[in-house]
Amino acid sequence: RIYLDHNAGAPLRPEARAAMIDALGSVGNASSVHAEGRAARGRIETARRQVAALVGGSADRVVMTSGGTEANATVLSPLQRVGGGMLELDALFIGATEHPSVMAGGRFPPEAVRTIAVDREGVVRLDDLETKLAALAGEGRRALVSVMLANNETGVIQPVAAVAGIARRFGALVHSDATQAAGRIPVDIAALGVDFLTLSAHKLGGPQGVGAIVLGGDLVSPVPLLTGGGQEKNARAGTQNVAGIVGFGAAAEAAAADLGRAEEWRRWRDGLSVLPGAVLVGAGAERLPQTAALALEGARAETLVIAFDLEGIALSAGSACSSGKVQVSHVMKAMGLGDALAASVIRVSFGWETGRDDIDRFDEAWARIVQRLVPGATRAA
Ligand code: PLP
Repeated sequence: RIYLDHNAGAPLRPEARAAMIDALGSVGNASSVHAEGRAARGRIETARRQVAALVGGSADRVVMTSGGTEANATVLSPLQRVGGGMLELDALFIGATEHPSVMAGGRFPPEAVRTIAVDREGVVRLDDLETKLAALAGEGRRALVSVMLANNETGVIQPVAAVAGIARRFGALVHSDATQAAGRIPVDIAALGVDFLTLSAHKLGGPQGVGAIVLGGDLVSPVPLLTGGGQEKNARAGTQNVAGIVGFGAAAEAAAADLGRAEEWRRWRDGLSVLPGAVLVGAGAERLPQTAALALEGARAETLVIAFDLEGIALSAGSACSSGKVQVSHVMKAMGLGDALAASVIRVSFGWETGRDDIDRFDEAWARIVQRLVPGATRAA
């Protein structure tokens, strides 16, 4: 089998597996004062340093969560801790192509959530953000702005540093969901200038069910979604998942070492865009090196996914979260794709265990499948 669905979930890296098996032998609760508890805490602190290092953050500003979804749901709150006090925010501005866990708006009431338009390549329109923030600031109100670093369906990279620069001028806080970007492109939280970054372990070869919020500065920290014990510096209650967190740390370290493969990945990715009949979504934008959203006029994505599955190749129709549903992806809609073309999009996403042979096998399967489904399709110039 060939697995080209890393954006839905990457296979567990051997480094993460080994670290997790070792950690499963650990005894005790990381909050306990005895030697066993201290040892568990030590394992978590190592992982915190590994995760922080992947995004240029500081280990004591990493809040472990149960995944990207929980990290997003925690950060998207109208109440934030700033300095020693609390800050109330009036609105949430989100990009039009965000992941459903951001589109859901977190703890903001639905009427406080506003969308920032994207252009035809799927890149947020900075003029739209600025106009909307200025209008809000004119009313003496403040916002949280949430724009993802890279899109899960298309790989399109957003100008997050520019978003943060504009947001700052209007006193807004800034969050970026870097779930799909981390481990695929260099990420530096200080250079991005955001208050919060979301990460998820299973996209970079760690276990499912673990993620993190990385905080940008010393001042802002999230109001916990899960309350109870004081774990994770009072930002996330609940006994930590030691083995999961250890696996996340090991995967983050290994993913950082893989960043040097980006050029090779980019060449493989670009080869996909010239396959017969393929229309690359977001072709004009900067994109992740290992993601390609390919539309095929005259075909349906569900049919393509099954055809590839029968060829031994796993990939997705649009995002994993929206596949299975009949409606067209909100990402493709926001980018202005027609319904028929949008309904034909498949996502090829690879990563740490992919070899050139896998991409060649995909190319051959594509040729066979397209020949059968859309016999007239030709190779792009
Ligand atoms: N954000 C983005 C951009 C994603 O692609 C995903 C996963 O699909 C998530 C958040 C959710 O992460 P998790 O699966 O860890 O809850």
